[in-house]
Amino acid sequence: MRKFKTESKKLLDLMINSIYTNKEIFLRELISNASDAVDKLNFKSLTDDSMHVDQGDLAIRVSFDRDARTITVSDNGIGMTAEELEKNLGTIAHSGSQEFKAENAEHQGDAVDIIGQFGVGFYSAFMVAKRVRVVSRAYGQDEAHAWESDGLEGYTIEPGERAEHGTDVILTLRDNEPAKPTQPGEPAEPGENYDRFLSEWTLKDLIKRYSNYVRYPIQMMVTKT
Ligand code: ADP
Ligand code: MG
Repeated sequence: MRKFKTESKKLLDLMINSIYTNKEIFLRELISNASDAVDKLNFKSLTDDSMHVDQGDLAIRVSFDRDARTITVSDNGIGMTAEELEKNLGTIAHSGSQEFKAENAEHQGDAVDIIGQFGVGFYSAFMVAKRVRVVSRAYGQDEAHAWESDGLEGYTIEPGERAEHGTDVILTLRDNEPAKPTQPGEPAEPGENYDRFLSEWTLKDLIKRYSNYVRYPIQMMVTKT
């Protein structure tokens, strides 16, 4: 296992333990990364005549499996090599989190608002997932690799399988939490229910609310069991 860098570990702790209750934004972040990846492929193809990218094929897919309790966000964008998986997902250095940290230093108390305002990035997946697997194949490469982590100490990178370029981000949802006891005589607070995301209606609603601006088709796939 490779260990997360200190910065990443701090952000992960914040994501997992904290303060921020609006867990549903994980989908916005993963779709925005998928869209960026398709953009990168698109842009590269404009400047490289040897590349043949069919514009009509470019898409983002969201699917879920109720029995396995997984949600998958897939794209057929630029993909990542093993080195890029290491660099991009093992270290947090992106703009969104930098801004977040800068702002957060000034207004400690407003963390809840701030985290929602800026892109919180890939690690937000760990707000809802106990395990994240990223299977990716970089454009022009024959091999795919799988990055996997429970978001705690570190991650693994191993050979993986993918038929074409692009990335699958597979979330295994956290276990539902029991209701929290409150003061005697008061009703118990309901525990977090992650199963609510395993619903076509809920996912479509989140996509409509948070990812309306995305310019590639977002296809919803339902795994029938
Ligand atoms: P940001 O999107 O602000 O750069 P993220 O934490 O969301 O930060 O993602 C970190 C990095 O991981 C991205 O910059 C990108 O290089 C890489 N990445 C994440 N998801 C994908 C994806 N679906 N396809 C290709 N690269 C990705
Ligand atoms: Mg992002």
